Amino acid sequence: MKQPDRIAPEETVGGPTAPTAYRKPNGDSPRTAGDPICLPPGISSARFKTFLLRLAGICGEDNVTAITKEEELHHESYLEPSKCHDMFSIMNKEAFIASAVVSPRHTGEVQAIMRLCNEFEIPVWPFSIGRNVGYGGAAPRVPGSLGMDLGCNMNKIIKVDVDGAYALVEPGVTYFDLHNYLVEHNLRDKLWVDVPDLGGGSVLGNTVERGVGYTPYGDHYMMHCGMEVVLPNGELVRTGMGALPNPKADPNAPAYEQEPNESWQLFNYGFGPYNDGTFTQSSLGVVTKMGVWLMTNPGGYQSYMITFPRDEDLHQIVEIIRPLRVGMVLQNVPTLRHILLDAAVHGDRKSYTDSDKPLTDDEIDAIAKKLNLGRWNFYGALYGPAPVREVMWQVVKGAFSQVPGAKFYFPEDQPDNIVLQTRHNTLQGIPSVTELKWVDWLPNGAHLFFSPIAKVSGDEAVAQYALTRKRCEQAGLDFIGTFVVGMREMHHIVCLVFNRKDPKSCEKAHWVISTLVQDAAERGWGEYRTHIALMDQIAQTYNFNDNAQMKLNERIKNALDPKGILAPGKNGIWPQTYDAKSWAIKRPSLASLR
Ligand code: ADP
Repeated sequence: MKQPDRIAPEETVGGPTAPTAYRKPNGDSPRTAGDPICLPPGISSARFKTFLLRLAGICGEDNVTAITKEEELHHESYLEPSKCHDMFSIMNKEAFIASAVVSPRHTGEVQAIMRLCNEFEIPVWPFSIGRNVGYGGAAPRVPGSLGMDLGCNMNKIIKVDVDGAYALVEPGVTYFDLHNYLVEHNLRDKLWVDVPDLGGGSVLGNTVERGVGYTPYGDHYMMHCGMEVVLPNGELVRTGMGALPNPKADPNAPAYEQEPNESWQLFNYGFGPYNDGTFTQSSLGVVTKMGVWLMTNPGGYQSYMITFPRDEDLHQIVEIIRPLRVGMVLQNVPTLRHILLDAAVHGDRKSYTDSDKPLTDDEIDAIAKKLNLGRWNFYGALYGPAPVREVMWQVVKGAFSQVPGAKFYFPEDQPDNIVLQTRHNTLQGIPSVTELKWVDWLPNGAHLFFSPIAKVSGDEAVAQYALTRKRCEQAGLDFIGTFVVGMREMHHIVCLVFNRKDPKSCEKAHWVISTLVQDAAERGWGEYRTHIALMDQIAQTYNFNDNAQMKLNERIKNALDPKGILAPGKNGIWPQTYDAKSWAIKRPSLASLR
């Protein structure tokens, strides 16, 4: 894939704070006592020590941790995630690791940290909780960056407005936190929060990465409203209606403490250009507060599962889904899951087979039979009072009954079906971590997501399924995946499970995903989100008109962040201070996997 032509530093708006040097990876310089496992690029040990002292002066010693010991690399549990490296690394563990982690206590400290990082020219990688499983966890793209753990101390639910049906949250508020708040305040009969598959991530982090959930409010970015953002130079911005001061606010208080405009969480756009998108999948700001719309309790709920017996049913199922979804008869974000995704939640691979080859169609059929499931399994829900649900169900059932052998179940029909019982909760905004289990399909299981966008069309679903399954099997992996149905497209999430303690297995997963990125681009398919190791490759596929979008992104980046301090390399955007080519990640070849 052609590397985009980069804008030369002199073409950009560097101004008086223009950078001093082009950053390249550190190489193998020896560590001296007390050094972190990885220093920031181009920063000496002595300068880093001074930086840490200044950092402690801002946030207090207890909130600054240098990553000096190899034990730090042993954190590998979702429940106690690492704050400095990728627990599901496909390369060596130090490929993406922070030099130190800082936990600011409030937005004023975030501003001070940004100014300090500019002074020392040290890259900083912000995250909220840092789980982000399958996409790199808390790890920075540039090894040696300072990790900024926003969720550690900044974890307040600032407000839940029942009449306006919204919340205002800080970065550390998880889906569990927000749901539990509603339960503890007896608000569940009024308000629901939309949750992703795993509830341990932050509401804010998931939204800025444009993650999804499964109720009618499943598009998290669409359902956010208003952000407070610290820019790379430390300035504070409130977007949308937040830019209009609240007349009752204390003008003498620091800006981040000032009472916001009362319409901040009610209307997204305010006046003038709409900036929020700029701060998603972005290296242009640290988001310190965000509004999220909550779904009003619909007054009735019924989840369901429909099983389809044959692999070939995929085409017909997707053709049935399209008009129902775009017409909002399917009210939520439903999922069409391949049998092995469900099977992996029910048991590990060893519980089904002794073979080390990818499972054959006959073997997969046998697993489906054993679990009383289909080759494809559709999970949806009906929302509203009983008469509304009954009418909807007639339409949904009538439509899917056209598929020969389709079977319809409510959760009470299969009380032992852990997936159906979990989806029953997820589709009404009750968070869990049950679905973590599919990662244990292989021993020492870890995963990467390959997530292309697909049209809601039978032809495209079948073509993506055939291609992704073929590439998985070429590398000796099973295909595990799901189609998550948005309004007019599907996020096709292919779950590449590998053994993180087996370098060959890691390489296989890396080969599959990097090959698929290229395969997909050749067919006009692009991914919506990715792991840090794949960001450059994917960014380079979005290259319409001589990489016009990347050039725009680089111009904005260099204007707002002339020293390239904030999340360099995030989503493939390299600041002018970095030699992008020298940060490229090497792709494994198929031959090396043999
Ligand atoms: P989760 O909360 O799901 O564990 P993370 O906190 O790991 O997710 O965030 C995922 C990614 O989103 C981060 O690596 C970072 O790029 C971006 N991100 C998360 N929180 C913020 C934030 N407050 N400001 C800017 N970017 C953020």
